[in-house]
Amino acid sequence: MDNNDNEWFDDYFEENDEQAQPSPQKTTTRHIRWGAVAILVIIILLIILLIFLINAFKDDIKEDIDKKPPKDIPAGVQTSVTTAPPTTDVTDTATTTAEPEPPKPLYPVETDIEVIDGVTYINGILIVNKTYGLPEWFDPGVDPVAQAKLEEMYAAAADDGITLWTASGYRTYEEQRILYEDYAAVDGYEAADTYSARPGHSEHETGLTFDVNDPSSTFDGTPEAQWLEQHCAEYGFIIRYPQGKEDITGFMYESWHVRYVGEEVAKFVMENGICLEEYFGITSVYSENE
Ligand SMILES: [Zn+2]
Repeated sequence: MDNNDNEWFDDYFEENDEQAQPSPQKTTTRHIRWGAVAILVIIILLIILLIFLINAFKDDIKEDIDKKPPKDIPAGVQTSVTTAPPTTDVTDTATTTAEPEPPKPLYPVETDIEVIDGVTYINGILIVNKTYGLPEWFDPGVDPVAQAKLEEMYAAAADDGITLWTASGYRTYEEQRILYEDYAAVDGYEAADTYSARPGHSEHETGLTFDVNDPSSTFDGTPEAQWLEQHCAEYGFIIRYPQGKEDITGFMYESWHVRYVGEEVAKFVMENGICLEEYFGITSVYSENE
């Protein structure tokens, strides 16, 4: 080393020029190098400062962005954003378009038909229609669970400003026989069979069935009938003889006639617009000798 300067950059710049003598040109060059290094250091310091500032305020900036939409978007716009279909739904629709889903099965469960002393149960649910009758001795009275659920439903209806009451509930075999014969005497047996069950074939003999308010077609379409159809399944009831299912149930549409089957079955039946015969895959036809 031929100079007394101990600065690292001099050593660095001159290590390949050890024999050269100091000169005015070289001093100038050294000053320029000094300046360049100083500017470089300032730039590096500025970059470090900038990075520090960005990190320090990053969370604040993010918070501002997160807060902004609820503050600035008017209620109307927000509602439309909320009701817009989510992305998953769009994906589902796309999938459906590509691969059509098979039609929903009407009978989602294996049906286990059990006949105990002439009384038919399918998956534990008592079945009465034109095919499945009840013996004359069968006299269970009103089912306490169905009665409790009915009262719960009436209370919920009252909360919605709808008044529901029971026009007709449990009937014995004998009471049904008298009723049916009376109808048949007026309208004839063929007509009576469309709206009244023969003794042993009425759901009213199960203690699980109730006629609500007005058991006639004047009840159809009333606010009470609409409420009943919309909410009965929540309490385990179904509209037992739905509109358009007359050929399957064997009975005319009865908007007032509800049957307790339990919430699970009731919800499936009502949500799918089917009748109990479709749900279990059973018929409702009187046999020849009845
Ligand atoms: Zn009825």
